Formats: sequence, C-alpha cells, structure tokens
Amino acid sequence: MIATGLETLQFDNRFTQLLPGDPQAENFRRQVRGACYSRVRPTPVAAPRLLAWSHDMAGRLGLDFDPFQTTEAAEIFGGNRLLKGMDPFAMCYGGHQFGNWAGQLGDGRAINLGEVLGRGGDRWMLQLKGAGPTPYSRTADGLAVLRSSVREFLCSEAMYHLGVPTTRALSLVATGEMVTRDMFYDGNPKREPGAVVCRVAPTFTRFGNFQILSSRKEHDLLQQLVDYTITNDFPHLGSPSAETRAEWFREVCVRTADMVVHWMRVGFVHGVMNTDNMSIAGLTIDYGPYGWLEDFDPSWTPNTTDASGRRYSFGQQPQIALWNLVQLANALFPVFGSADGLQAGVDAYTKHFNASCLAMMAAKTGLSHEHGDDAAELANELPDLLQEVETDMTIFYRALGSVELLPEQPELSGEQWSGVLSGLQDSWYQPELVPADHRVHLQEWLQRYRAMLQMQGLSDLSRQLRMNQVNPKYVLRNYLAQLAIDRAEQGDPGLIHELLQVLHNPFDEQPDKEHFSKKRPEWAKDRAGCSMLSCSS
Ligand code: AMP
Ligand code: MG
Repeated sequence: MIATGLETLQFDNRFTQLLPGDPQAENFRRQVRGACYSRVRPTPVAAPRLLAWSHDMAGRLGLDFDPFQTTEAAEIFGGNRLLKGMDPFAMCYGGHQFGNWAGQLGDGRAINLGEVLGRGGDRWMLQLKGAGPTPYSRTADGLAVLRSSVREFLCSEAMYHLGVPTTRALSLVATGEMVTRDMFYDGNPKREPGAVVCRVAPTFTRFGNFQILSSRKEHDLLQQLVDYTITNDFPHLGSPSAETRAEWFREVCVRTADMVVHWMRVGFVHGVMNTDNMSIAGLTIDYGPYGWLEDFDPSWTPNTTDASGRRYSFGQQPQIALWNLVQLANALFPVFGSADGLQAGVDAYTKHFNASCLAMMAAKTGLSHEHGDDAAELANELPDLLQEVETDMTIFYRALGSVELLPEQPELSGEQWSGVLSGLQDSWYQPELVPADHRVHLQEWLQRYRAMLQMQGLSDLSRQLRMNQVNPKYVLRNYLAQLAIDRAEQGDPGLIHELLQVLHNPFDEQPDKEHFSKKRPEWAKDRAGCSMLSCSS
C-alpha cells in the first residue's frame, strides 16, 4: 500500500473563515471582545518525541504511514511546525465553574490547527493541548504535563471504542521540556515532563462559547455563532430559522442525554462538568480528573477539589448535565426571543434521559425492555443492591452475563444457586466481609431475574451475547492509567501502546490480557492518581 502521509491532509478552515476573529495579532493575556477566537501559533518545544499514535484515528483522517519512522509527526504535533493549510487559533469561551459564573476562560492551552476534510466527506478539527500560552491563558502557562496527557490520550480512545460519544486523540508527544506543577496544591511544586496531545473532533465548540457572547450582550455575534453551528455542525437540520434553532437546541439536549447515559453504562465519572467542559455536539470533552467507578458508589467523585461538595459525583451527572443545559438555554434566550423552544429542549432532555437510561439498565442485564417496564424496573434495583457491599461494577455485570441460570429448567437446586453466587463473588472487594444478608438479597433478585428471563425466552447464551455488547470487559481502570504514566515517566511508553491495543476491543475476551480486567489492587486504593486526582494538569 502507498503510504499516505501528513502532506496529503486537506484543510478547509470554516471557523476562521466564517466567524469574526480578534484583530489583535499579538499573543498576550487579555479579555477578547467582539470575536469568537484569536489567531495564535503553538510555542515550539525543545525536543519533541512521539510517544503514542492512534492508528484508528489516523485512518479516519485518511492517513496511513508509520509516524515513528521520521520526526515529522513529532514536530507537527508537538507544535514546532505547521502544515500547509493550517490556520491556528484559540477559541473564546466562558463558563460556569462549580455552579458559579467565571467570565472569560477560553482555550488557555488548546490551539486548533485547522479543519481536515476526512475520508467520506467528514470533517475533523485538529487541536493541540498543551502547546503554549494563548490570549486566554490567564495566569497559567499554557502547558500540560505528561501524566495528564497520557490520561487524555488513552481515555478518549478507550471511550470511543466503548461506544461513548467523545472527542478523540491522534497523538501524544513528549516535549523534552519540564513543567512545574503543584500536584496536591500543598505548596510543594515539582518539575514534571511536559507533553502535547493532538485531539480530534468534528467541533470543539462548548456551551461556554455561547455563554460568553450572551454575558457580554454581543447578541449579533451570538446569533452568528448559533447559525454557524447549525449550518456547519448540524447541517441535517437545514438553514437556520426560528424552527431550526429550536430543533437544534432540542438535539443538543438529546445528544447530551445520550452521552450521560453512556457514561452511566460504563461507569465513567467526568469529574469537572463545568459548562466550559460541555461540548455542543454532545461529546465527552476535556479529560481532566476523570475516573472510573470501581466499587459501585454513586457518590464517588475522582476530583479532590470536589471532595466536599460532590457536585460532579457519578450519580449527580444526569442532574448536572440538565443544570448545564439550563445555563445554555439562558444564554441562548436573546437569539430565540421566546422561551418555548428552549423549554421544549430542556423537557426533551428529561424525557429522553429517563427513557434511555431505563433501556440501558435493562440492556446491561440482557433483558428486553420492549416487554414492558417490569424488566427495566428489575434492572434498576441493581444499583441499590450493589451498594450493600463493595462491588466492582464492571466485573459484576460481566460476571452476571456468564452465570448459568438455566432458564429452560423449571427450578434450580440449592447447590446450583450456590454456584451462581460464587460466579459473582469475584466482583466483591472483600468477599470475607460480605454479610449473609447480602447473599440472600442477591439470590432473591436473581430468582426474579431468572423468572423474567424465562418469560422473555432468553437462553443463557443469547443473554450473554447481548450483555457482552454493552458491558465492557476492559475499561481504563484508574490504576492502569497510573501504571502507564509511571512507565512513560521513566522513558518507556510501552504500556500506553499495550493499553491502547487492549482498549481497542473492550468487549472482547482477550485471554492473554486478562490481568487488565482485574479489580483494583490494594496498593492502588489510596495512591494519588489511582483513586483521587486534582485538577493540576
Ligand atoms: P478546565 O480544567 O478544562 O476546566 O480548564 C478551565 C480553564 O483553564 C480553561 O480555560 C483552560 O484553557 C484553562 N487552563 C487550564 N490549564 C491551563 C494551563 N496550564 N494554562 C493555561 N490555561 C489553562
Ligand atoms: Mg476545560
């Protein structure tokens, strides 16, 4: 096959061509008014080295070459060189952080390189994260450390293969420079290796891009951005009008609901659901102090900054997404002129979320939701049950899929029930502490589950096949990401490559990779980076 290299990428930069930019060309921190973005170049780095590459994402862009063979990919995606057709810029946006309006935030360390025309007419914005200061950097340095870049690179690709709407990652480049971070905010700053991730998405526009214009009463520009977004990012809706704008907001609400349902399916906790971290396209965006549920605890948050309020804990995510949509609706009101379309969108969120979440919970047990609500209600009892003892969510659902309930037999013997329960106990963190009560509750639930399977005519095999399509075997367990970071910081990106490969097929049994599906080891329970993370990145 002829290698298709970076020089073949075709750029068509609509955001900068069609929307007003900041006339100030100098790169210094400031408030940017009357503009959607500022042109700014990435800051060159000392010694860019390509650590990891997503061949899957590269293929989507029409790229097919070995990026490790030459220095070209490292130079371009480390920020040292631009390709012909790139027109780099940072976006202006604001946001509500932890419930409070924070004013202008903007791409403080992200620089969009340009919009690539992909295979089959799709479009992809390439964006470097950690490529140096921009007018929106406020008091920070515009850089990113290796540990947070490894986490973003691996998790966005893992989420994509789990079927969760997300921004993607193309590359991870070590800069050869050190970055100073006070990881625990305790007055002990440390020098850490720096890195740049190239993220990729159809659009990086956030709720906050609309909010900042509305907060400044730049209503003409707000309307321009709304209509630009409809025309370019939601072209199936047709040309902008009062009706299409309402339809667009509704679709934003429904896509956001879908995204959160997927998070709940796989046990993902975003950790910083500020409105500047909410994508208008309903994509998971900005992988910061995110985490994966290990023991099923809806009040768990990975973010140390959120430890007291738990605003962004696993179980709060559906409510917070709604709260964020209401902020977006408020910001859009001057363009809509009436609350009706906005209210209808917010209502659609609740309706869509509730229905999809029920269907998802049923699907996780293999039950068909179409037979009525009983199946979904039964499935919805599981979260309470799983909280009775420390139970690994991912392992539990996968194990539930493989226990033999023999629905074709009228009854199970006592011995058979013991076998069923022992098939599930691998999901318990402390099996010796599981009270007899819990076994009784679990068996009682399983009996009703078995009766439902009989009613729906679902054999063990067909149920397992269904369940294994929605319940992953492999997720980016918090401690696995940390092990990959530890090794990368020692100069060896091998575990990043291995995890990228395993997480490419998260629903498949991969017998030689079984160890990556195991419970969090004891040592990882309280280790920084494995259980709790700060925003320092
Ligand atoms: P986030 O952590 O994604 O919620 O970021 C909030 C805001 O801080 C955004 O405007 C980011 O661009 C900005 N930001 C975060 N880290 C840095 C950094 N190291 N340098 C400049 N801006 C940053
Ligand atoms: Mg952010």
